[in-house]
Amino acid sequence: MARIAVGGFQHETNTFAPQRATWADFERADAWPGFVRGPELIDAVEGFNLPIAGAVKTLAGLGHELVPLCWCSAPPSSHVEREAYEKVAGHILDDLAAGGPLDGIYLDLHGAMVAEHHEDGEGELLRRIRVLVGDRMPIVTSLDYHTNLTPEMVRFASAMIGYRTYPHIDMAATGSRAAQLLDRLLKDRRPLYKAYRQIDFLIPLVWQCTLMEPAKGIFALIEDIERGSDRSGVPGGSHNQGIVSVTHTPGFPPADIKECGAALVVYGHDRDAAEAAADRLAAAIREREAGFAGKLYTPDEAVIEALRLAKGATKPVMLADIQDNPGAGGTSDTVGLLRALIAHRATGAVIGMIVDPEAAEMATAAGEGALLECGVGAKIGYAGETPVEAQWRVVRLGSGVFTGSGPMYGGAKFQIGPMALVTDEASGVSAVLAAKRIQAVDQEMFRHVGVEPAEVPILGLKSTVHFRAHFQPIAEAILCVESPGAHVSDPTELPYRRLRKGVRLRPLGPVHE
Ligand SMILES: [Zn+2]
Repeated sequence: MARIAVGGFQHETNTFAPQRATWADFERADAWPGFVRGPELIDAVEGFNLPIAGAVKTLAGLGHELVPLCWCSAPPSSHVEREAYEKVAGHILDDLAAGGPLDGIYLDLHGAMVAEHHEDGEGELLRRIRVLVGDRMPIVTSLDYHTNLTPEMVRFASAMIGYRTYPHIDMAATGSRAAQLLDRLLKDRRPLYKAYRQIDFLIPLVWQCTLMEPAKGIFALIEDIERGSDRSGVPGGSHNQGIVSVTHTPGFPPADIKECGAALVVYGHDRDAAEAAADRLAAAIREREAGFAGKLYTPDEAVIEALRLAKGATKPVMLADIQDNPGAGGTSDTVGLLRALIAHRATGAVIGMIVDPEAAEMATAAGEGALLECGVGAKIGYAGETPVEAQWRVVRLGSGVFTGSGPMYGGAKFQIGPMALVTDEASGVSAVLAAKRIQAVDQEMFRHVGVEPAEVPILGLKSTVHFRAHFQPIAEAILCVESPGAHVSDPTELPYRRLRKGVRLRPLGPVHE
């Protein structure tokens, strides 16, 4: 039995987005728990599809004593404010110092956090922890699929394990795998050799999905490389030679930092085997560069095609509003797709979530059946947009408190209200309003305001890829739409200043100079 500190600090930073992450954003609950510190952490994360939940369960099951630090996350946005970063990092350092003798540390990190004063948020945190606990302490972290994996993170963590799915259905499972690896490091007492590679092109999120090629094949290869040394499913298993663990993070392109982009790290006891595996995986990714591509529709093209496909269809045609994804820093209140649905009179179409606290509160005050006395969306005014003025009838209200049921957010206790379903009387187009920024990833978000997603002819979703976990099985077709949003999908349109030179800004795209 070992004494293991457990905690987490998650943020995905789109440095080009309009809103920053404040301390209040970390403190507040959304789909995930709010800031929690000390013994109450254990109960607070239980049952969530989160790495910390999987790690806690596995470490406790292995008989280890847990020393809870703190855990928090904030919705993806621009930079984490200095005050918020220092507060959370300070709590982690203080609690590690006060936690008594420790044998190991597990941290639930995202891997794409940029603070106002440190562009490598996780690398800096791990550096501080390493200074405090010394070189010999095993520190294992889990990482999001969208990690921008930096040399500092690789250097200061003993080992890191990333998600292997996008949509991320393996979050808790990844925490569990990290816990097993930490347990193994404690028993082995052998340091791991690290083979790290960066990939020299950025991959737009929309083409990173593991439900399709080429990401699907790359992650199958990763499983093969790991299984080459062990077939038990436990990273590294009982073999002392060869590969212990392989992580590839396709990266989070809208982050103007030096080390932005896809990378990989192979951990092993044998230097040559780890280097060879890293070369093999890097070559496989580079060979597939041209495959990270597909069609994007303008809002008008998308709605016209959706209306055509919806004729005679029994399932909804889905329009993914990929650039206004709040899960990647979007405001979730842009109205390009909503305006196109109205302009083409897509009667029966529903779009969600339009995050508009003012309209959601006014709808609640007005009551079901009343007319809404304000426009919908575009309250932040991204790209110069203005709210959509129409005869918005308040059809259904919701508190915004409900439990998710999909593969990714099943069990998540959403608190995103107040919510409302409003319908434009002229066109028959509806919008689901929410007060808190949240990605359209779970069918319960629609059911909560009386919409059964499978029965809608055209469904607009503010999401890039995650919606596919719960919505793709009920879709007639999915069209990806390039409408205004702060998650600019094509990195060649972003004004990078800090990104290292020589990186191709998209697959087969121009080189950043
Ligand atoms: Zn992610």
